[in-house]
Amino acid sequence: MNRSKKSEKIGKILDKLYPSTPVPLNHSNAYTLLVAVMLSAQTTDKKVNQVTPELFKYADTPEAMNNLKVETIKNLIQEIGLAPTKAKNLKKMAKQLIDGGGVKADWEYLESLAGVGHKTASVVMAQWYNIPAFPVDTHIHRLASRWGLSKAKNVEMTERDLKKLWNKKSWNKRHLQIIFFGREYCPARNHNLKECPICKWTATKKRIKEENK
Ligand code: SF4
Repeated sequence: MNRSKKSEKIGKILDKLYPSTPVPLNHSNAYTLLVAVMLSAQTTDKKVNQVTPELFKYADTPEAMNNLKVETIKNLIQEIGLAPTKAKNLKKMAKQLIDGGGVKADWEYLESLAGVGHKTASVVMAQWYNIPAFPVDTHIHRLASRWGLSKAKNVEMTERDLKKLWNKKSWNKRHLQIIFFGREYCPARNHNLKECPICKWTATKKRIKEENK
């Protein structure tokens, strides 16, 4: 089956499994979403949702965040991975937002903020501004390769491949659906290629052989 047929079939399965795609990170505006997405790097969304209520008690605006000491921010987010770096970036980003007029639907501006890369900017564009984007993290990168949708060596190239396969209007939901699918079906070990709703027909014989070793 070629990539385009495969992606069509995968899309149908994903639509059936995940007809709705609620945003996993709790937030109340573009700024709180941006902060939550930044915090989610190398941490689970669940952990971020546990930490942000307390953080936003003190820093629910860029001004309030900027008024906090880096040390205070670090203590508020200490349960999260890479807290010292993220705390420094949050303070710096808050100042940049104050100077720049807040969070805006502007790729270049968003990606110029401290601690904000293309993936974080893509999530904000997609989930707050509803602008088509396809944030690709290592999980989506891995699944795209396992499903034979991309042979790309890095997330940037995987993003380019996936964007070609699915209609622009579906990018925002596809990204979330693949994340939900990965969480439900792709544990670090013990996955079963023969029972999995997608790998059971996308996995190559070579891969089945390798995984059964
Ligand atoms: S078999 Fe299922 S669980 Fe394993 S990689 Fe494929 S999609 Fe993920």
